[in-house]
Amino acid sequence: MDNTIKCLIIGGGPAGYTAAIYASRANINPVVIEGLQPGGQLTTTTEVENFPGYPDGVTGPQLVDDIKRQAIKFGADIRQGNVDKVDLSVRPFTVTVGKEELKAHSIIIATGATARYLGLPDEQKYMGMGVSACATCDGFFYRNRTVAVVGGGDSACEEALYLSSLAKKVYLIVRKPYLRASKVMQQRVLQNEKITVLFSCETLSLFGEEVLEGAKLVQNRGTEEEQTFDISIDGFFLAIGHTPNTALFKEWIDLDDQGYINLHTSTTATNVKGVFAAGDVADPHYQQAITAAAMGCRAALDAENYLLENNI
Ligand code: NDP
Repeated sequence: MDNTIKCLIIGGGPAGYTAAIYASRANINPVVIEGLQPGGQLTTTTEVENFPGYPDGVTGPQLVDDIKRQAIKFGADIRQGNVDKVDLSVRPFTVTVGKEELKAHSIIIATGATARYLGLPDEQKYMGMGVSACATCDGFFYRNRTVAVVGGGDSACEEALYLSSLAKKVYLIVRKPYLRASKVMQQRVLQNEKITVLFSCETLSLFGEEVLEGAKLVQNRGTEEEQTFDISIDGFFLAIGHTPNTALFKEWIDLDDQGYINLHTSTTATNVKGVFAAGDVADPHYQQAITAAAMGCRAALDAENYLLENNI
């Protein structure tokens, strides 16, 4: 019996599950490898207010679970597992998941992106003891305490606002003299009495005996107003963007200089015929749940066309 999968989707976030909805409805029997912590970045967000169809908002985990349930309803085969290796040199393609080798005629890469760290040596030292890249996961431990969030984008604002509902005080450390976040998020942050925004500010180091006790910051570096000072904090949250999860594919798939997958045409096709990409892994610009879902839809339609054109 030929066990070759027609459409293998790697990644269990809004892009992967949406691709699975469309691919199931197209009868190409998709298999989704959703990773060991399925749900992607939506599982670490709080309220999602801008996904169409949820006028009252929805939590990130609920939203991603809803999309997944919809895929299952149409027959998608969703499996937990970590993809360890891919070989795109021979068709059908080979995807290794633990001890299992899967063969696939087409692949949709929807592996998303992972939170970035500053690269300070102390970040690893205090990891789990004050340093975190997920306020919704760890914020609870900082009830009535003082925390800092690094970053000036929507994620940083969202994290700062979430933490302000728990913590006594929140510093937002922004390296530029302005916030990059959307206007509505900026307003909420700037109007929040618990949040102090430190503009033009960088983190030099973290300190503390066993657990984190504070951070050394420099403000207005390289100007006449440059000053170095310490803040006392119990928690240090990174929200400085993401790195695309493309390491597995870099041998075969064209990436841009930041590691995002290059899409060569106006479709979701990569440079390897039969391999498509959707969501944050191929999108350095928009990175929204809705744009990831839309790309998932497009990738499934592209995979369906590819299979049809090749009589598979
Ligand atoms: P962004 O890339 O938008 O922002 C990253 C922030 O981190 C920037 O302010 C950047 O500074 C700062 N930064 C990067 N590197 C460093 C560093 N080494 N030191 C200090 N600061 C640093 O990432 P986000 O994760 O915030 O957002 C990604 C995308 O997801 C965006 O399109 C955003 O709109 C979207 N998003 C939407 C949400 C929503 O609508 N609810 C929620 C969360 C994210 P600088 O500005 O100087 O480059």
